[in-house]
Amino acid sequence: MKGYKNHFEKVEKIKSGEISLRQNVNYFLKRIEENSNLNCYNFVFNDCIEQADIIEEKIKNGKAGKLAGMVIAIKDVLALKDKPMTCSSNILKNFISIYTSTAVQKLINEDAIIIGKTNCDEFAMGSSNENSAFGPALNPHDATRVTGGSSGGSAAAVAADLCDVSLGTDTGGSIRQPAAFCGIFGLKPTYGRVSRYGLTAFASSFDTIGPFAKSIEDIALVLEVISGKDEKDSTSQDTPVPEFSKNILTDKKFKIGIPKEYFGEGLDSEIKDAINNQIEKLKSNGHQIIEISLPHTEYAIATYYILTTAEASSNLSRYEGAHYGYRAEQSGDLIDMYTETRTQGFGKEVKRRIMLGTYVLSAGYYDAYYRKAQKVRRLLKNDFTEAFKSVDVILTPTTPTVAFKIGEKSSNPLEMYLSDIYTTSANLAGIPGINIPITKNKNGLPIGMQLMANQFEELKLLQLSKVIESLK
Ligand code: GLN
Repeated sequence: MKGYKNHFEKVEKIKSGEISLRQNVNYFLKRIEENSNLNCYNFVFNDCIEQADIIEEKIKNGKAGKLAGMVIAIKDVLALKDKPMTCSSNILKNFISIYTSTAVQKLINEDAIIIGKTNCDEFAMGSSNENSAFGPALNPHDATRVTGGSSGGSAAAVAADLCDVSLGTDTGGSIRQPAAFCGIFGLKPTYGRVSRYGLTAFASSFDTIGPFAKSIEDIALVLEVISGKDEKDSTSQDTPVPEFSKNILTDKKFKIGIPKEYFGEGLDSEIKDAINNQIEKLKSNGHQIIEISLPHTEYAIATYYILTTAEASSNLSRYEGAHYGYRAEQSGDLIDMYTETRTQGFGKEVKRRIMLGTYVLSAGYYDAYYRKAQKVRRLLKNDFTEAFKSVDVILTPTTPTVAFKIGEKSSNPLEMYLSDIYTTSANLAGIPGINIPITKNKNGLPIGMQLMANQFEELKLLQLSKVIESLK
């Protein structure tokens, strides 16, 4: 048994001697082994146990960092010096990072223990973790179902108690959607809140890094640690970082916007009912429920897939066998070597996206697709700016369905893309969003609810999540 609800409780129990950090780390290592069928981890760092006694000592001497002893898993697209980083791709098989990403360094600086690197869709492209060179991670609630993606391993590892907290990345929903499928909290911060230095780029103007946890307290604590301006990422913002973890309790009554576009066709009726039930509870608790419209919502998926594939095709041009990573053995001249390396190294979905992205950027099509999509992105952003003039937070479903069966959508990319229907808008607009696990359906599968707030207003998301938890 873990024996604590959140990190604050864990530290208190370590201080009082009720929990030994060594036993706790061993508990996770053992569970990882016992649940290896879930395939959550690409790499496990068994030697992290060596830090347990040192950090426990620090905790007892009052000299420990904010995350002292928190056992954290990181998505295998985040660099950690001297450790492998594959992005779940054969093209980075055997690649060892030569530096550490800022977000992960900040965890380490606060005495967190990094236990391993989690499985994900190749280069974070996917919604089910099925596009991984390591094979799919399995949903701990039903191992015949997907975890969601792309941060599937990170979400499942937290849900199955294989770590305290994990980091994932969210370009179009990859934190919120797997959090919903696995029944835990997952927060995508504002674009620019957390440095992307050391995160392998997928779509640079969309990518964000954020935490998964079973408690809002842990989400808040990790968010406050990893946030902030970083000179190594010029898109990180110099906006003050609130002490999220100390401010999640509030008596405030929120103005909550319900966008009608998020409750239309395609939404599973059990999810719809569960969300309406939450809305009723919030109403009786004195919060104001306001119906709003985000009129350009129907264009979000198309816009997202045009812009992100364009960015990906450019970002992935660096994997060619010359600089690092995999190189095809048998090849003729330089061009052959590039072609062979990329043919062998990339999986199907990554290739599909490179081709789509190259197409939308090509001469003659640039104006029709890429430039037009940029304009629609602005319109989507304007919808949110308008909405946040009258509401604090927007409440929606996170996903149209619960976790689907492995293999169910893998041969139909368009259907797979539609599982991001409620999440991509936040990335297009650069705003924060969170998944809250609210209940389970009749088959015991988790149902999630999404909250979105204006840029840099993560605190409102955390506060309202806490309110919702208290109404359970
Ligand atoms: N599922 C979306 C995609 O395939 C989102 C991925 C992500 O957020 N990294 O692009």
